[in-house]
Order: sequence, then structure tokens, then C-alpha cells
Amino acid sequence: MRTSNWMVLVLLVLTITAVAQQSAPATQTAQPAAASEPISAQPAPPLAQAPPTTMDQVVDRFIERENDLIKMLAPRTPVVETYLQNLTQDTTLGPVPKDDRYFLGRMDLSESIDRSDYLKDKDEGMEKHLLGGFTKMFKFQYTPLGFSWMVYADRNDFDRQHYDFRYVRREFLGDVRTLVFDVTPKKDAGRGRFLGRIWVEDQDFNIVRLNGTYTRPSRNSYYFHMDSWRLNLIPGYWVPTYIYSEEGDFTAGAKNKIAFKAQTRMWGYNLKNSTANDELTQIRVDSVKDETPAAQDASPLAAQREWQQQAEDNVLERLERSGLLAPEGDLDKILQTVVNNLQITNNIELPRPVRTRVLITSPLETFSVGNTIVISRGLIDVLPDEASLAAVLAHELAHIVLGHNLGSQYAFNDRMLFSDEATYQNLGFKHIPEEEASADKKAIEMLKNSPYAQKLDTAGLFIKALQTRAPQLTALLQAHLGNNIADQGMVTRLSQLATSAPALDWNKLDQIAALPLGGRVKLNPWDNRVEMVKAQPVAITSARDKMPFEVTPFFPRLTRYGANAPNGGAAPATTASSANAPSTTN
Ligand SMILES: [Zn+2]
Repeated sequence: MRTSNWMVLVLLVLTITAVAQQSAPATQTAQPAAASEPISAQPAPPLAQAPPTTMDQVVDRFIERENDLIKMLAPRTPVVETYLQNLTQDTTLGPVPKDDRYFLGRMDLSESIDRSDYLKDKDEGMEKHLLGGFTKMFKFQYTPLGFSWMVYADRNDFDRQHYDFRYVRREFLGDVRTLVFDVTPKKDAGRGRFLGRIWVEDQDFNIVRLNGTYTRPSRNSYYFHMDSWRLNLIPGYWVPTYIYSEEGDFTAGAKNKIAFKAQTRMWGYNLKNSTANDELTQIRVDSVKDETPAAQDASPLAAQREWQQQAEDNVLERLERSGLLAPEGDLDKILQTVVNNLQITNNIELPRPVRTRVLITSPLETFSVGNTIVISRGLIDVLPDEASLAAVLAHELAHIVLGHNLGSQYAFNDRMLFSDEATYQNLGFKHIPEEEASADKKAIEMLKNSPYAQKLDTAGLFIKALQTRAPQLTALLQAHLGNNIADQGMVTRLSQLATSAPALDWNKLDQIAALPLGGRVKLNPWDNRVEMVKAQPVAITSARDKMPFEVTPFFPRLTRYGANAPNGGAAPATTASSANAPSTTN
């Protein structure tokens, strides 16, 4: 049943693409590097209407726009990731993570909201408590669906029959002027209705932010509070992107039943859906000629390299199609600059240049396939500076230099035919412990010859900070494709760096060993492009401001699609030569 839906969608996408290419070439601007990306369906923006003259008309307009958004997103299945930290009180640092949970799946936004997970251990009772956060029956149990549900105020009944809307004021969110409304469900509106505040932009009257909770949970369920943000990534629509949830009360005498904070991110709205079936029916016309000079046969070594390259290409293409890998972009150039620095100072010459790519997910991991180093967004986020970035990249570069090539089995194309949700079961790049140890050794050797040699203290501090949190953050440290950085609460990767580093001191305000999640990499959830965040450093005034590896609320700077230098992730934030890659901007 699902398969036929996917296929219908593919046809639809092709049809709309043709139209979009003819009628709206302007909407695809500012994406110079997008050549390899398939151009896909962009919904038509809303028709221009006369501006509303009363608040009642404004309400009608945003109700209409919300329903248009629900319709536009119905055929899409974005990737949705929820990362949650349960909290406990620490006398110095305040609420700190006690343990953590991680969910990753594809969300089906059609009839109701449904999701299928990438991770093996599925939550069995998921359907039972469709709407809520978790049940109280035996123990608190989070359901990933509960988080995904918060993309809309009300999927089915967002209207005047079920809600009262009260205008509050005007307010700027970033560059966007909004009208703020309080939303309350009518008396007999039933369970699970939204209660809170919405922000509506003042041009097309789309909802750009929702903040509140849902009312009247059933006996054994509970609704989270949420702060849900949308970005204007295509003309006329604001797409759900971030949801922050938080529960807990640490005031004296509070019952302190439950305390957690969680970030939910959605991306891959424009992913082409693909299943093994869809793959097999795809017809490819190959018109590319072999341009190899003269007629040369491959030597055995050349054939071996060709084979590895084929495996590398297959894997990268497949990961990108699953929505897990960002397309090549400017952030890769920053990472490659760091790798280059290591290579040049160590006189490392390889038959092919080393490339880097960004895995979009939060868990801290790296791996390499062929000559490509892959590093997760979450790991880039928490690294304190360029030297620590160099350290984690050096480990993978060492694998490449030492010829620890994994993944040549993926040169067989049958191994690429699996559903997106089965990616983690079908791909894996874990080295044996001996290769891990020799890669670490080689990495330290290379770092000592590099421009980062004098700055390895922060890299060591990073490992130390990771060690203090490793027992609690098992989900964040669970690698899904590469080797774990820590095992059973002990950091294994590059642990030698910690021995020469200074003592970790939370109260030393100028010592930044690790950053919170979400501080470095900005993702465009429509086309999955990533770029560096341009954030002003904020002064740290207490140990509690450091929040290493922690989840924090979202506060994206809202801009309109195509506003001046197109933002919303479309414009490159940094230039290729940028030397201010991750620096100590804190
Ligand atoms: Zn390794």
C-alpha cells in the first residue's frame, strides 16, 4: 500500500517539476552548487489577496493558510529527529542531563501524523497513545510521535468552531513583523486541543511560531509544552523546522516528578521518496562516454582503487537520498581546509583528494568511506574550536592514510537497494579495535606536526568534558554508522589527548571545553543544505551558561524567503577560504 503511494508521488513530482521549471526559474536562484540535486516540486505560492482590514479577516486568513500548509505537506515525508535529555539537579551546574533518548524517523504528514523509524528498537506502544507525550502507567515512556505531533496547532480542526482567537500585539521575530494571537479551545472542543500563543507574519498571514501545550489529556497520558518554529524556505510557505519541549520544576519543594528538555528537528521536506521497488523501476539512460585518454587497461591496483571509488560514490549517494547526508556545500570546504592543513604539514600525498561531508543527525560520530570523511552535525556543534575539529578529523584521515578501507562491499549495487528507514541496518563502517588504536596513534602524530600542535589543550579538554558526560549521554554517543567515540561510559577515541590537557574546571569561565548542541551548523530543512551559523558571541557569566553537550531552546532569526542576500539557508554563509572555521567564539 505504501509502495503504491510512493510511486504515485514520484509521478506527481516529475509532473510538477516540469511545470516548475518552465514557469518559475527565478525560484531556483542562489543555489550555484545545486547542480547535482534533483530539482523537485515546489508548491505554488498563495495567490495575492487584498490585505485584510479587520482582525477577524486576519484570523480567517491564517486559518486558511494553515490548512493550505497541511495540504502542501500531506504528500511529504520529512526526516524527524528528537533528542531528549532527562534532567537532574546539580548544585553547581543546575539542571544537568541524567540520561538521554534519541529518535529518528520519517514522518508521514498525510491523513494523520505517522512515522516510521530508522532505529531498530521501535516503541511498541506507539499507536496506543497517539496524541500524548508518554503514559504514566508503569513508567514514563516517551513516544517519538508525541513530539512530531506538535508541528501543527491542530491537524484536523483549526477553526472558529473549536477555538477562540484573541489579538495581543505586534512583535518582530528576527526580520519578520508578526501579529500575536492567544488561542484557547472552546469549552466543548474536546481533548487534545491547542492552548497557547501563535505568531502570524503580516504579509501572507502564515503561522511562524506556536508556543503552548494541548488541553485535557486522557487519564494515562500527558501533553508536553512546546515551542514550535517554522522557516520561510519556499515562496509563500513557512515550514515546521524546530520544536523545543521542556518539562520540570526545580524550585524548592517541587514534586519534581519529571524533568527533561528535548529538541525536535525536521528536514528533508524535498526528499524524493524512494524504496527498493521504486529503485528497480527507475530507467536510466546513460549517455556519458568514457573519457579515459587512449585505450588503457586498468592495472590491478588501479582496478582496486576504481572499485573503492565506486563503493564510496554508491554510499554517499544513498545516504544523501535517505536524507541523512547534506549535499556538498560550503561547510565541506571549511572542513576540507582543516584536513588540508593536516595533510600538507605531514607531507601526505594521496592518489585522490580527501573530501568531507556532513551527516545531518545529532549523535556524535565520524566515519570514512573511501576518501571521504563524514562527520555528524551534532559533533561539529559541540566542538569548542578548530584544533578539536582537526583532532576528530585527524582520526579519520589516519584511517585513510593507513589504508583501512571499509565498505568496498558497497560497490555491488544490489546492496544499495533498501528502504530509507533501513539505512542503519544496511550500511556500517565500524573498524576493528586494532585499527581504531592505530588510527588514534597516527592521528596524534599528525596533529603534533600540524599548525594545531600548540592548541591541543582544548582538544584534550574536549575529551575530558566528554568523559564527564559520557555515562549519562549514551544515546548522544551511540554512533549509527561509524565507531562509537565512547563505550560503556568511557571515552575511547583520542583519549591520549586528555592526559596532557589542563584540569577541567567548570567554574573557570574562560575555559570552554564543549559547546551546547545546535550552536554551529544551520540546516535548510527544505533542501538539506548546511552552513555555519552566524551568531554573536554571548558572554558567559556563570558555570551554568556553559551547558556542554546540552539541549537548549531554539531561537532562529526569522527572515523572509529571498530577503536581501537570500537567507533561510540558501546563501553561503562563509567563503571557501574562510579560516575562521570553528573558532572560540563563545
Ligand atoms: Zn576510527
